[in-house]
Amino acid sequence: MNEWEPNVERQLRRDLAKFSRWLSRIGFTPGTAGNLSLRLDARRLLVTPTGVSKGLIRPSDMVIVDLEGRLLAGSRKVTSEIDMHVAVYHVREDVGAVVHAHPPMATAFACSGRGLDQILCQEAVMTVGVVPLATYATTGTGEVAASLLPLLPDHDAILLENHGVVCCGQTLPDAFMKMETVEHLAHLTLVAHQLGSARPLRPEQIQQLRSARRKYQENSQACSSDSETQVQAAGAATIAT
Ligand SMILES: [Zn+2]
Repeated sequence: MNEWEPNVERQLRRDLAKFSRWLSRIGFTPGTAGNLSLRLDARRLLVTPTGVSKGLIRPSDMVIVDLEGRLLAGSRKVTSEIDMHVAVYHVREDVGAVVHAHPPMATAFACSGRGLDQILCQEAVMTVGVVPLATYATTGTGEVAASLLPLLPDHDAILLENHGVVCCGQTLPDAFMKMETVEHLAHLTLVAHQLGSARPLRPEQIQQLRSARRKYQENSQACSSDSETQVQAAGAATIAT
């Protein structure tokens, strides 16, 4: 083991606790709901354990699992939803972190059998795009991974029918910001429809935004090529999605 590895793990544990508390503060993880994970290295994941409020979680509470979700280290139990995380990492080699939560607006869409499949605002094109609805699956079973598999190649944010939301990203801040964005899009979709005159963007408008996004992405990559902080990388990654 390199001598810097314990320091890296210590920082990643702190990051996982920080973003767990943040999710809790904004009301996305009532009770002990939700779980977060990140790649510790090529063979191991660092994951929040089951049965702990995300608002009270400490860096030492995290568990380490292999890429099949089996416990390798930690005194707490592995979440029953680990299959969802493992499925994402298996399908998406580009993903470094996964955030699962139950944000109220987006979960209400998922409980009404509705994905966020209308592009109503420019921000949607620049961030997560269409957010599809994965078919119903019993939480804690292999059904959840099976329902996600067809959607994972093309989507970083997915609604889980009658359950919640899962988002993935290159980094933990990236996945977290996508979760925030999904809830925001659900909120404005609801209000736009309540107002009775929701006006989805036209295909040519979406196309123009995609071109602008590509340019932004190229500039971001050029600017952040020497960046060392995860948050700066996450900003570029979010807009590039
Ligand atoms: Zn859940």
